[in-house]
Amino acid sequence: MLLRIGACVRTTYDTGPYIVKSLSGPCTCASYLDHINGCDRPSKAHFHMEVADLSGRAGYYLNGYTLDGRSVWGNDRLIDASQLELFA
Ligand SMILES: [Zn+2]
Repeated sequence: MLLRIGACVRTTYDTGPYIVKSLSGPCTCASYLDHINGCDRPSKAHFHMEVADLSGRAGYYLNGYTLDGRSVWGNDRLIDASQLELFA
């Protein structure tokens, strides 16, 4: 399992690394895109995270991931970035 409080992750769309500050879920809320298109069909179970960057700046969110870091809404994934810190 990748996601837990304190985990260091980055995304496959080149953001991060981020430290997980809070983790909520599982929930099945509709994806943002479905929601604005007026479709509230439930999603696969997923989690929402509040994350901070490595300088401690909080207020970033990663939404719609399973605990092994796969997006339920797309092809992106979260990658374990804890090794990166060793070389920072
Ligand atoms: Zn949700």
